[in-house]
Amino acid sequence: MAYVRLVGLTKKFGANIIAVDNLNLDIRDREFVTLVGPSGCGKSTTLRMIAGLERPTQGEIYFDERCVNDDEPRDRDIAMVFQSYALYPHMNVRENLEYGLKKRKVPKIERDEKVKKIARLLEIDNLLERKPKELSGGQRQRVALGRALIREPVVFLLDEPLSNLDAKLRVHMRAELIKLHHSIQTTMIYVTHDQLEAMTMSDRIVVVNEGKIQQVGTPKDVYDHPVNLFVAGFIGTPTMNFIECTLKEDKGLFKLDAGLFRLNLPEKLRKKIHQNIFPSDVILGIRPEDMQISESEANGSIPALVSVVELVGSEKIVFSSVGDQAIISRISPDRELEINKKVYLIINESKMHLFDKKSGDALF
Ligand code: ATP
Repeated sequence: MAYVRLVGLTKKFGANIIAVDNLNLDIRDREFVTLVGPSGCGKSTTLRMIAGLERPTQGEIYFDERCVNDDEPRDRDIAMVFQSYALYPHMNVRENLEYGLKKRKVPKIERDEKVKKIARLLEIDNLLERKPKELSGGQRQRVALGRALIREPVVFLLDEPLSNLDAKLRVHMRAELIKLHHSIQTTMIYVTHDQLEAMTMSDRIVVVNEGKIQQVGTPKDVYDHPVNLFVAGFIGTPTMNFIECTLKEDKGLFKLDAGLFRLNLPEKLRKKIHQNIFPSDVILGIRPEDMQISESEANGSIPALVSVVELVGSEKIVFSSVGDQAIISRISPDRELEINKKVYLIINESKMHLFDKKSGDALF
């Protein structure tokens, strides 16, 4: 078992590319932590440095109290599963699983015992004599996980291991990985660009952009309290609505003026304004589920025109327009809404987010 500490971790490629920029992160023993961010943000490079496949330009990596910067990958007690999990095609599942053990000259009795245990854990015990080409994508992925796990690593690194699977299998394997983490109780560091994957599996997520950590927290924390516009826009589907506004004071009352509509600043946010100095150019953020669509006007409601309604099974996604601003909201799948219908959006004030337009930072 191990905790992992990254201190000022930096990786430069050549003179101009800073793939990972001064990353500081503490990963607790047995925690499932996911690094999530767009393509090219430095997730894989970070994982490769933890694995020892890439040398940091600066900074240190600790496993417990031990700095592992100078340790070879094989001396780090880690196992890694990649997106392209090449199994040996000419070997059957058993041989694939025990290959690493054989190389390390682990005696046959012990190998058999370990293969049995891992195969049972991953429910592949009836597939041991099959070759990889005789397996489904999900079964192959489980063998790849098994091959990594059989070494009993103290840290398990996974780089987009589900991205080659189809959508249905991915959902299934997500659940399998959560189960696996519960049963093996090993520190897991997972990398994905898929925020849903990160949200559903992790104890904590680390949102990364352009080599820098943007926010670290539980999935709920990050979803409910994004610290900046990047995190707010990256986490959640459909994405949060952003509306440019001016924050104005009028006789002690604060109002958000979006041009086509004005909103009073809710009491909770108003109180904080007196304690701080606020910019006038702000961005109002509101998640699609944090507003209602009404067919009649109400106090503070925003007139909008329905443009598209998409049924996505358990809900309907409504695209409407307020002037030239597109707004996305969610409604029950049973509700009928015609295209071009005039409606009124009622924002749940307690769920409003405000960001400084210039810096992108959350104001609360
Ligand atoms: P993806 O999700 O697409 O795999 P990522 O977030 O894992 O992306 P990295 O692979 O870590 O991103 O790459 C981070 C940055 O470093 C990118 O700009 C990439 O082009 C660059 N990079 C990665 N490896 C090298 C290399 N060996 N030489 C030069 N640049 C590299």
